Amino acid sequence: MNLKQVCTASAVGMLMMGTALASGGAHWSYEGHEGPSHWGNLSHSYSMCKEGKKQSPIDISTTTKTKLSKIKFSYTAEPKEILNNGHTVQVNMKKGSSVTVAGKTFNLLQFHFHAPSEHTINGKPADMVAHFVHQAKDGQLGVVAVLFKIGKENPTLAKLWKYMPEHAGDKKALAPGITVAKLLPAKTNYYHYSGSLTTPPCSENVNWMVLQTTVPVSAAQVAAFSHVIHKNVRPVQPHHGRVIESN
Ligand SMILES: [Zn+2]
Repeated sequence: MNLKQVCTASAVGMLMMGTALASGGAHWSYEGHEGPSHWGNLSHSYSMCKEGKKQSPIDISTTTKTKLSKIKFSYTAEPKEILNNGHTVQVNMKKGSSVTVAGKTFNLLQFHFHAPSEHTINGKPADMVAHFVHQAKDGQLGVVAVLFKIGKENPTLAKLWKYMPEHAGDKKALAPGITVAKLLPAKTNYYHYSGSLTTPPCSENVNWMVLQTTVPVSAAQVAAFSHVIHKNVRPVQPHHGRVIESN
């Protein structure tokens, strides 16, 4: 794929994610000289990628049971468009969807996918993950991760994949009738810890909520994603003493 096209697309993608996620826009990738172990050196604005002490993803193994607040999902708005920014396939939301956790509301901006999952559970990734990226009024980010396990076809993904943007920079409007809430498992117990964006600029103070219950995806659906976006996974990062809570 054309390098310049990818850089442009990724800068646009970051702009759409809001200023909190904006970066210098230096090109990065998942392998080679611009791969994860080099991110911190590609741009001054990416320094957290190598200096941060609360980086994501992590392996989720030892957890502490606590009385975590329930996540109240209010995914009522429809998705607006689906795009390929060269790093992932991302669905931008119309305004109006949110989660509320412990009295704090985070608005859903977009969700996107990684295959396999970035967080691992006891050392093992899931087959795919959706990251639902939310932002509170004070700028704080909350990301809900929904892990997918290969099984039967996922009907909501089937609707989205009909619009699969095959090339970096592609963007397609979505027709009405896609219910994003149907991507969530019925049980929404979760793991919680404080981490970062898993892509440059690796900004910290992201509230991570990794749902414990997986949802199904067919092998063909994962393959369709991986055909367009090759392995887009940052390796797991050191815990540096962070506690992972679970409920
Ligand atoms: Zn992600």
